[in-house]
Amino acid sequence: MNNQYLKLDPWLIIEENFDPKKQKASESLFSIGNGHMGQRATFEEKYSGNSTQGNYIAGVYYPDPTRVGWWKNGYPEYFAKVVNTPNWIGIDVNIGTTGEVNLATCKILEFKRTLNMRDGVLERFCIVELKDGKQLKISSQRFISLKNKEIGAIKYSVTPLNFSSDITFNMYIDADVKNASSYYNEYFLDEAHKEAFANEAYVVTITKKTFFHICTGTKFSVSQKNKSLSINTDSIIAEKYAGNMLQVYCPQNVETTIFKYAAVVSSFNHAALELTSTCKKLVAAANSLGYENLLKEHTESWHAKWKMCDVVIDGDVAAQQAIRFNIFQLNQTYTGDDPRLNIGPKGFTGEKYGGVTYWDTEAFCLPFYMHTADQTIAKNLLLYRYKHLGKAIENAAKLGFKHGAALFPMVTINGEECHNEWEITFEEIHRNGAIAYAIYNYVNYTKDENYLADYGLEVLVALARFWAQRASFSAEKNQYVILGVTGPNEYENNVSNNWYTNTIAAWTLQYTLDTINNIKTSSRNKYDELVKKINFNCGQETKDWQNIIEKMYYPTDAKLEIFLQQEGYLDKEQILAKDIPAEERPLNQHWSWDRILRSCFIKQADVLQGMYFFKERYDIETIKRNFDFYEPRTVHESSLSACVHSILAARIGYVDKAYELFLHTARLDLDDYNKEVDEGCHITSMGGAWLAIVDGFAGMTIKDDKLHFNPVLPANWKSYAFKIMFRGNMLQVVIDKNGVTVK
Ligand code: BGC
Repeated sequence: MNNQYLKLDPWLIIEENFDPKKQKASESLFSIGNGHMGQRATFEEKYSGNSTQGNYIAGVYYPDPTRVGWWKNGYPEYFAKVVNTPNWIGIDVNIGTTGEVNLATCKILEFKRTLNMRDGVLERFCIVELKDGKQLKISSQRFISLKNKEIGAIKYSVTPLNFSSDITFNMYIDADVKNASSYYNEYFLDEAHKEAFANEAYVVTITKKTFFHICTGTKFSVSQKNKSLSINTDSIIAEKYAGNMLQVYCPQNVETTIFKYAAVVSSFNHAALELTSTCKKLVAAANSLGYENLLKEHTESWHAKWKMCDVVIDGDVAAQQAIRFNIFQLNQTYTGDDPRLNIGPKGFTGEKYGGVTYWDTEAFCLPFYMHTADQTIAKNLLLYRYKHLGKAIENAAKLGFKHGAALFPMVTINGEECHNEWEITFEEIHRNGAIAYAIYNYVNYTKDENYLADYGLEVLVALARFWAQRASFSAEKNQYVILGVTGPNEYENNVSNNWYTNTIAAWTLQYTLDTINNIKTSSRNKYDELVKKINFNCGQETKDWQNIIEKMYYPTDAKLEIFLQQEGYLDKEQILAKDIPAEERPLNQHWSWDRILRSCFIKQADVLQGMYFFKERYDIETIKRNFDFYEPRTVHESSLSACVHSILAARIGYVDKAYELFLHTARLDLDDYNKEVDEGCHITSMGGAWLAIVDGFAGMTIKDDKLHFNPVLPANWKSYAFKIMFRGNMLQVVIDKNGVTVK
């Protein structure tokens, strides 16, 4: 572990002794969310230090006009970004004549921030000393309800420790917020309406261009010595701002508590005209239910989730904390009840990557949801892409492909491509393969064959059509080749015959052929309908695909007996990652892009990504040879890298290596390995951390339609246990020194 700033604990993430330099990192790490909205762990009261306020609503986006140095034909017009929406947590605190409480300017005598993952609650405790020596204790607790997706609540208490004074509290909603990720430093929101009265405030905002309406509302109550206070408030209305101010006499050593309830509703889920009334009803209901009851509902929902998806590791608190953090964040980001939603690489914890969907979902996240929840959740992830099929066909047509070929976007929120770097947008086409693989993975695991007949086959044919047009015949090789691609390893661009891409392309063609044959017999009517719908010339098209499968070129090296990442890879100077001076890592922060591209260094699993997906095809010796060659050349500078390597290492019996890579992936954010957690957590790789336990250490696979385990136990673990849902059955798997128990 390279940076043990946070304390180890099996269920809590704990930060003690405030370090302002770590504030933005902690804001990401302590984020809270419920799959529908989420926010960074900024402070309720004023904080003038370095901080990134962030409140995000799933599905609400703004098309930020593309910004590139040199425009290339085919680039998308915009990058759809999840919008930073009005901040509802604000509670400014002003003490009599002393002035404001601001953790950036006052002395912090004690500080503790805790994320309780079991309950889904963020807590903070601090004692601050103001410039005139007044000491104030602050405790805050807040959550975003897992039970009621549009509700959040805060319990905020102050206790004067060495004085008595009037304290003014300003409870506000701030709509004067921007996306840190905006290309042109633009506001994405316009204000439409605001009101404040008694103990309530509402602000309606509208996203520019996409016209999502959002109503953010708050209502509060105050108590002292556990008795509710009746209060007079002043309403404050300002530009993009609505709030209520009140003054309370706070005697020494007496705790005054504010309960602030928030509702956030948007036209993503409601009729725009009814937003304010819906919001008012929701805050009123939250207020009358009361904080403790809301909290109880919320924590019970979390406990129910944990019952299914917890992984218990005995003997290693760092690993235990880390895997729970990964599971917690995955559940905070996506709950799977709406096929219009997906998983952004940073979830609700930051704005990097714009909150859009990458191949990460299919390749790394789907299994977690598929194994730990009702199968409709995984199905919704597949349906998300199915719903975007039309756009993927349009996208491919824009690039010159024909006849219903689909290229799914590299990044998207609404089905349209948003990525704007040619070597990725146009060339990182392996993403199409992951979408086919996810269909296979889902059907293989759940046996939901209807999915194939109803939706899956249509997607597969469109993908197969793409690969058939994208592969070209090399007369010289007398084989099919795929030229000008970027594989998963983005430290190589515009290469020919990336082994992974060629492999997944041919596999997709084969899987599509197999599926056609199955569906033709099992669901003839649906098959015939599809043939008409997509104008499918089965005889000719499948003949072409078969030909490509048979003649696909796969670069290999006969001497080393390995698959070659791409043609010519061995012409590069072969150096190992361990020989790079420590001060030059990570390479992407120290080397020029050109130097990275010229080097042999690998950003993330590439050949090994393919060996992971298709591990049943290869014997242990083949996996070993490829692992031994590629892993030492890999710098793991994508969060998606270490997990895949960990899984393969476990499979080939390199248990210590698997453990080291597991910790790397699972504690990536907690220990901030890549020094960038201030930008947000790596949510999608967290699915990989979970896989490192279940596919990796436990060696779970499906063979001959049966579930198999081939477990290993890391040296310092006494045992580990997890549950999975398999075809309607819940299995509990416990692995210890004596073997495996499956109940
Ligand atoms: C990785 C991609 C990934 C993206 C989003 C990049 O750094 O190379 O494979 O899809 O991050 O997580």
